[in-house]
Amino acid sequence: MATVIDGKNLSEEIRAEIRKEVEELGGAHPCLAAVLVGDDPASAVYVRNKRRACEATGLESIQINLPAETTQTELLQQVAHLNQDPKVNGILVQLPLPRSIDPARIASAILPEKDVDGLHPLNAGRLLANEPGLYPCTPVACIEIMDRHGFQIEGKRAVVIGRSEIVGKPIALLLLHRNATVTICHSRTQQLPEIVREADIVIAAIGQPRFVKGDWIKPGAAVIDVGINRIDKKLVGDVDFDVAVERAGLITPVPGGVGPLTITMLLRNTLRAFKQQSESRKP
Ligand code: NDP
Repeated sequence: MATVIDGKNLSEEIRAEIRKEVEELGGAHPCLAAVLVGDDPASAVYVRNKRRACEATGLESIQINLPAETTQTELLQQVAHLNQDPKVNGILVQLPLPRSIDPARIASAILPEKDVDGLHPLNAGRLLANEPGLYPCTPVACIEIMDRHGFQIEGKRAVVIGRSEIVGKPIALLLLHRNATVTICHSRTQQLPEIVREADIVIAAIGQPRFVKGDWIKPGAAVIDVGINRIDKKLVGDVDFDVAVERAGLITPVPGGVGPLTITMLLRNTLRAFKQQSESRKP
């Protein structure tokens, strides 16, 4: 029977560390600006949760609501304004954006030192080169879960299912930099069950409910389920949890696994961005 990760608890533990670090700043409050375009209810909930998490850890947050008809040029102007605002340390543009706006264009307009989602090409390049930078939150959360539970990554065989820019690819790079042997799988991968059966670490970032079957899991493996899928108003992950939990050594549930940690990594990135900006302003 696997150790089931309590993402909320772990998240609280890390948030307490962040809160303490903020208190040590002597009255300064790192500030996250969240931009919400349109009226997608799920996005509004995500932004609200992120702002609440900021408040709870002593970070400041501001929210900019723009109408669904906002053009790419208008959004770029808003980003430029936040880039110039010395009070704002981190900028987050909530995805998805309306179809007429190219998310990659917006990500590259955010100053790399304020890019707390880690989506700017410069930060992506830093991650590729294993140099310090702001890295995407969900991938960092996956590594944090294994580290905080003493699961050794080095030398292990890791299988990442999913190759998106936001989740799959950055997780694969982080695992590689930690000396895992990494296989990246996707929708054209053949014999996926056989590949997963060899994995000591399975990261599922697909977006298909219970796609990874329990009997694919190697006994003792770490199973990190990034997927969030809605079935009959219930949230389920990409892994068939009920069977996988019997075989894995460590497993994250959905909800309550990676999700809460992702927001916490955003807070940590905002704090880091603040510290780096303060450092670079010193004469
Ligand atoms: P994308 O849709 O961008 O990517 C999905 C990936 O899964 C693609 O690379 C795709 O392959 C692959 N895939 C799809 N079907 C299959 C299949 N049948 N077999 C193997 N691979 C397949 O999703 P994201 O990466 O943005 O997100 C993945 C999941 O994680 C979603 O459920 C999302 O909601 C969740 N998520 C959770 C977060 C959290 O905080 N917990 C944060 C971000 C995302 P191909 O490239 O070939 O199309």
